[in-house]
Amino acid sequence: ILLVPHQNPDGDTLSSVCAFMQYLRFYSKNHTAFCSTRISESLNFLPHVEYVTVDPTIFDRHKFDTVCTFDAGDIDYAGVGKFLRALNYKPVVINFDHHISNKRFGQMNIVDVDASSTTMVLYNFFTRVGVAIDKHTATCLLTGLMTDTETFMNGATKASTLSVGSALVRLGANFNGIKQRILKDKSLSGLRFWGIILSRLYHVPRRSVAVTYSLELDKLEHPSTDDDLDGVSNFIKLINDADMVIFLKEFRAVDGALCVKGSMRTTLDTVDVSKIAVSLGGGGHKKAAGFTVPGKIVERTKHGDIIFEPFV
Ligand code: AMP
Ligand code: MN
Ligand code: MN
Repeated sequence: ILLVPHQNPDGDTLSSVCAFMQYLRFYSKNHTAFCSTRISESLNFLPHVEYVTVDPTIFDRHKFDTVCTFDAGDIDYAGVGKFLRALNYKPVVINFDHHISNKRFGQMNIVDVDASSTTMVLYNFFTRVGVAIDKHTATCLLTGLMTDTETFMNGATKASTLSVGSALVRLGANFNGIKQRILKDKSLSGLRFWGIILSRLYHVPRRSVAVTYSLELDKLEHPSTDDDLDGVSNFIKLINDADMVIFLKEFRAVDGALCVKGSMRTTLDTVDVSKIAVSLGGGGHKKAAGFTVPGKIVERTKHGDIIFEPFV
């Protein structure tokens, strides 16, 4: 059984994989966990995370009956599309997720778009099949709930989030430890970079949209990791005179090509940002979605406006 978090894993996808590892261990089921990109150090507190490999030669060394993906709307976002297409056999794909944009790409799709996190989908699954949740699994499941709801603050937080959160704390999840690890993950240089990004915030005239961006070049002056910039889009969402915010981040892909990652957030119930993201090849939720396109950000002044051109 191969377990796969989505690329550039966040707390939800990685803690789902870790919780599932514990479940498979309990039944002595052979399993491997593979992530197609590096794993952030801020998540290295998760039980079993040290067993998640980033080595793609596992596809040559093992024959997988089943592939389980967690928190990924499509197989390429999971980062394993190209590896699975290259196999001369077809494993069964089981897709655990909660994104509205999920493409139902598995033979089994355990997708609950009302769940606050994929770990919530797993909590319901474990409870339904009658597996005991130990304190390590509880810590994993609570991590996903906390990272996807910004510690029970954003619109994905429901009564069920709070009650399952409380049940997990009762089962021994380390609430304060998780909080410490996920909220205190910024470097000094990274926060200075935030200052630059915040100073570029631009209100799109006639639209209630605020936009800002970061450039690859900025990193020369402000050395930073992906973790450092994690949270910018959720922070700028706090602006009270914009209904939607966009953070465009220029970065270099592994092959050296410049790309732009867009993160969108809205507080309006009448806007579904996942639709915009899907039209740009991305995905996500109604109120939080993202996309990645090849290209660079061009700053241009025209009638005093700044125009962003993420496409080349
Ligand atoms: P982010 O802006 O990266 O925090 O992402 C917001 C939500 O959109 C998360 O639930 C992501 O899983 C999802 N998302 C972001 N980028 C993509 C993408 N390129 N394809 C599919 N889903 C995405
Ligand atoms: Mn995720
Ligand atoms: Mn999620």
